[in-house]
Amino acid sequence: MENLEKAIAEIKRSLPGMTLLENEPMRAHSSFRIGGPARALAIPSDLTGLSKLCAIMKDHRVAPMPLGNGSNILFPDEGLPDLLLMSTEKLQKLFLLPDGAIYAEAGVSLAKLAAFACEQGLSGLEFASGIPGTVGGGLRMNAGAYGGELKDTVESVVCYYLPEQGLWELPKDRCRFDYRSSLFQKSSGFVILSAVFRLQPGDPAAIAATMRELGEKRREKQPLDLPSAGSAFKRPEGHFAAALIDQAGLKGYAVGGAQVSEKHAGFIVNRGGASSHDVYDLMMHVRKTVYEKFQIPLEPEIIILPPDYALPDEGPAVPRNRVFVNEPNEER
Ligand SMILES: Cc1cc2nc3c(=O)[nH]c(=O)nc-3n(C[C@H](O)[C@H](O)[C@H](O)COP(=O)(O)OP(=O)(O)OC[C@H]3O[C@@H](n4cnc5c(N)ncnc54)[C@H](O)[C@@H]3O)c2cc1C
Repeated sequence: MENLEKAIAEIKRSLPGMTLLENEPMRAHSSFRIGGPARALAIPSDLTGLSKLCAIMKDHRVAPMPLGNGSNILFPDEGLPDLLLMSTEKLQKLFLLPDGAIYAEAGVSLAKLAAFACEQGLSGLEFASGIPGTVGGGLRMNAGAYGGELKDTVESVVCYYLPEQGLWELPKDRCRFDYRSSLFQKSSGFVILSAVFRLQPGDPAAIAATMRELGEKRREKQPLDLPSAGSAFKRPEGHFAAALIDQAGLKGYAVGGAQVSEKHAGFIVNRGGASSHDVYDLMMHVRKTVYEKFQIPLEPEIIILPPDYALPDEGPAVPRNRVFVNEPNEER
């Protein structure tokens, strides 16, 4: 905490032009519309500002948490008094490289990236057009839908690695992409700055038609009228989380303002005034019930903060976001 306060004082001194929102309510930055104040939310205006911010944080031995669109995070009502978040919302450069690949900074939304690819007659990102995340958050989660995943389209990722204060350009095969996972999730300390996407030539009209069709499917199947963070649980191998939750009789089950969506059992929605505890307790109830019924552990896909929530035995622990580690040596 003391180190964080020193880092904040130095940010104010050395980076006076940087937007720094103190005690910022995170519900304003969360698709769940849930969350109390974080100690600070820094919004660098470009990659240089972001790198300088990372260097200050590293000097004070405090790990900042990158923030994209906040569409996959449950922030606690109590707030995060010992956390500085670093938003990528101003990192918006997006252009075609001379060799036909697409360069996108971390804050570009996946919708904008997919629309740009379509305009250029490039196919492969149609699946991503309805995912409400950014390039940075999407790559960390290896976001995917309708049979596509970002790992299938990305060629390389540039990131800042805090423990070494260095910029790394990682080709796709070193990003350790997996189902809803990546190196950037398996090891903390990475901040994605930008990525290059390599797609296939395609007919813009056909690409646009596919995006429209997938958008319609989403609107038909998903509770897009209520705040949520997408699928609450990852797909267990050989099963669908939504089907298991439905078969366990939990569709519509509610704890306070949080409810298993009546439209899509894989989603937990904020039907009005949900607290972070309502969502957490509901997720735990769902896991417990599904495990008792089918002996299948459900692993949360939503990132639950702070990371010291302990999970009971029905599956792996929630990933820790703020642990400052000296990984990944094997990557060098
Ligand atoms: C209605 C709805 C539908 C959804 N549908 C899908 C879907 O079909 N498929 C799917 O995969 N997901 C889906 N999601 C979940 C979510 O949109 C994705 O996981 C998305 O990729 C998260 O991106 P974000 O920018 O919002 O990340 P955030 O929620 O802001 O952050 C997620 C994680 O990524 C980290 N992060 C963010 N930016 C960076 C960065 N620059 N560098 C390093 N780490 C970073 C954060 O620290 C955090 O740990 C859905 C969510 C909603 C609300």
